[in-house]
Amino acid sequence: VVTHPARPILRLDEAVVNRIAAGEIIHRPANALKELIENSLDAGATLIHITLKEGGLKWLQIRDNGSGIRPGDLPLLCERFATSKLRDFDDLSAMTTFGFRGEALASISFVSASMSVVTKTKQDPLAYKAFYTSGALAPPKPGQSSEPKPCAGSDGTILTAEDLFYNVPQRRRALKSAAEEYNRALDIAAKYALHYGSRGVGFVCKKSGSNATDLSTPSSSATQTMDTIRLLHGTSVARELVHLEPKRNAPLGFTVAGYISGANWSAKRTTFLCFINHRLVDCSALKRSFETLYSAMLPKGGHPWIYLSLEIDPAKVDVNVHPTKREVHFLNEDEIVETVCTYAQDALAGANSTRTFQFTQS
Ligand code: ADP
Ligand code: MG
Repeated sequence: VVTHPARPILRLDEAVVNRIAAGEIIHRPANALKELIENSLDAGATLIHITLKEGGLKWLQIRDNGSGIRPGDLPLLCERFATSKLRDFDDLSAMTTFGFRGEALASISFVSASMSVVTKTKQDPLAYKAFYTSGALAPPKPGQSSEPKPCAGSDGTILTAEDLFYNVPQRRRALKSAAEEYNRALDIAAKYALHYGSRGVGFVCKKSGSNATDLSTPSSSATQTMDTIRLLHGTSVARELVHLEPKRNAPLGFTVAGYISGANWSAKRTTFLCFINHRLVDCSALKRSFETLYSAMLPKGGHPWIYLSLEIDPAKVDVNVHPTKREVHFLNEDEIVETVCTYAQDALAGANSTRTFQFTQS
């Protein structure tokens, strides 16, 4: 007979708690990058530069021209649950920023060997540089002061994380090659670049030490979504896309717009970009419905290209279901998914009939 003597319950060390929590948010460089991009967008940036070494595992840097961080706020920057965005629990029902939990930078500082920030607001004459480890300011070198130091710099923020998961070896081992991590990070950046291209935000992404950029979109308010699609996905797919004109459904309280491939386009894999209130999310219910819709239309084994942007009253969306916020829940989910699919079907049918019409005319 095996006996199980009761063991005493003890509180975990705060450092252990924080490191476990960080692991739930930052699984791989691409998650860290998504959080950092969202921070730059929250700060009103119009240009976001990303540089990665070894897929972001060795070195992950993001530079933006956003609001910057007030020097007095630097000591709290990487503390868990410290944020400039959320104030009261009630605010959660109407968040218009991506962030609110104050956990991303804390998490990155817990899983990286070193994190640094150089930041300048318009009001301050100088930039400040600070280093962080495990949620708090840290000295740049042993024996030096942890105080943020004034330095030269332009308006905005440069954030650098080095040696991601140096203290979580099992996580590091589980990750695939640096090339795979780079591609995943680039994919996140390219999706945001597409959605934000027409909103005046440009993105650049490259490997450290390389002059060639793997992603480069302009920061101009004149950019049309179609321009960015052509730039990032090529003309052959762009030609075959049907525009989902912005459509508001008042009873269900949402607006949808986007581009979806027509009957003449078919690929080996589905491309599915879905933004809800401008946040890149996995909306698996919507993806499944679209796959069903296209399976009836495309040859066997063929898959569509879909970009959807939904705007739903923030009061009806719950983004607080998972720390990574990749998943969101909203009211009337089934009805909204069904309605979006109906709109898509109508747009596809309309596009088909114009095509046939043009064909018979010529
Ligand atoms: P959250 O975004 O949930 O507030 P984060 O840990 O991502 O939490 O960021 C903490 C705080 O740091 C933010 O609330 C914001 O004030 C500041 N911050 C982070 N990144 C930037 C940035 N790129 N530009 C300006 N401020 C930033
Ligand atoms: Mg954030």
